[in-house]
Amino acid sequence: MAAIEKTEQLSFLLIPLMAPGHVIPMIDMAKMLARHGVNVTIMLTPLNFNRFSSVVNRAAMSGLPIRLLQIRFPSQEAGLPAGCESADTLPSYQLIQNFFVAIKLLQAIVEEKMEEMNPIPSCVIFDKHLPWMAEACQKFGIPRVSFDGMSSFTQLVMHNLYVSKIHQTVPETVPFLVPGLPHEIEFTKLQLPGLFNPRINDFPEFREQVRLTEAEAYGVVVNSFEELEKGYVDEFKKIRGGKVWCIGPLSLSSDDNLDRAERGNQASIDAAQCLKWLDIRPPGSVIYACLGSLARISAPQFLELALGLEASNHPFILVVNTGSESEEIEKWISEDGFEERNRERCLLVRGWAPQVLILSHPAVGGFLSHCGWNSTLESICAGLPMVTFPLFGEQFLNEKLVVQVLKTGVGVGARVSVHLGQTQRPEDKVTRDGIQAAVEMVMDQGEEGCERRRVAQELGKMAKRSVEEGGSSCLNIELLIEDIAKLAKQKKSS
Ligand code: UDP
Repeated sequence: MAAIEKTEQLSFLLIPLMAPGHVIPMIDMAKMLARHGVNVTIMLTPLNFNRFSSVVNRAAMSGLPIRLLQIRFPSQEAGLPAGCESADTLPSYQLIQNFFVAIKLLQAIVEEKMEEMNPIPSCVIFDKHLPWMAEACQKFGIPRVSFDGMSSFTQLVMHNLYVSKIHQTVPETVPFLVPGLPHEIEFTKLQLPGLFNPRINDFPEFREQVRLTEAEAYGVVVNSFEELEKGYVDEFKKIRGGKVWCIGPLSLSSDDNLDRAERGNQASIDAAQCLKWLDIRPPGSVIYACLGSLARISAPQFLELALGLEASNHPFILVVNTGSESEEIEKWISEDGFEERNRERCLLVRGWAPQVLILSHPAVGGFLSHCGWNSTLESICAGLPMVTFPLFGEQFLNEKLVVQVLKTGVGVGARVSVHLGQTQRPEDKVTRDGIQAAVEMVMDQGEEGCERRRVAQELGKMAKRSVEEGGSSCLNIELLIEDIAKLAKQKKSS
């Protein structure tokens, strides 16, 4: 109640990038902020408006000051098919250029909508991949806080690479040490995200603009909690002059099964059916395998993944979301008899799985993940060890955090990052043996497996504590709100 009185006039505007891994945490963030008494508006284009309206409406009906504001997405002007408004709906990677054109065109549409807003928001939290938000916020004199959906670990690694430029001095496949980190962390150049990876560094101007916009933002909100990334958060705060607020794990804002089941998209499987399948498995026996919303693996790689899981002899849920090679994959599944052969112990989900709901079920004992940051945190929240299969973006960095720093994961042996939306080169394929071995290690009941599980469960408890009253993330939300309230007061009196 005190928070509500303190922040009566504060209103936050949230603008996510149109991709599930970016919109989902912002919707969760909106709910968390609204619970602290801030009026929250989230701007969404029609596709995401439809995907998230029931979750947001439910929150509003429960009394939270939260609302959605619909804006047009300029698909057609940018040469995209109608309705193609989110990175996961791009028919092929060839259209990524057009997607960025549409995102650029969005500036005028967003500004027009901001013009109509009354009162003008006290703060904008924007995805850093919308760098023109800097200009829009400047026009309206609104402080802007950036969000990139990544960890402090990633932020620090990227900053130290940018400053040291050490990656420019080493050959592509030779591991090198990232300077200035609390732990000894090595990467090869081919595992790094776009700005630093010679095979991926497309859109260099855009990436540089994003980096600058983030550096110049008033502050940064991070979907993480301070206890998870000790040392890394402190260092990152030093770089940012203290204006870093770790307010996660945001997925913990979905605290009922309906929100969990409807999180992000319409699930392709009935949640009740899924829970029924899990209910009859022994506790901790199931491995859940999902490579996120954007990853597209080749048919040969899918085959290795499926056969590796099969060979591990554990019951498993495998999410099949494969893109352009889906026909080939379906053909293999039926001709090989994979589904039939594993009928007793495998659940294939074609499309969107209710991930957070699945992870929270006691039958699940491990998560084979591409290490997207949301999935990584969701695994941490569920107290689960991970089998790490990074593919693109900053996923190799998240893998290092999980395997080397937190010590709750085992890698399948992925070596080279790919372009978003593209599949690995055949020579970089991860083998079924690598997958089987990592799954067996994670699910193992011996000393090592038990220790990994113990640490994971401890982290899960810490995650939950962090968002409860008095927890670090809860306090950070209050600090962020207080900071913005102070700015608003100064503005009023000037
Ligand atoms: N997700 C889901 N069901 C799916 C695939 C993904 O609920 O079948 C959710 C997942 O819980 C996470 C988000 O989509 O919140 C994916 O974000 P992440 O950062 O893990 O990976 P990305 O999709 O951005 O690569």
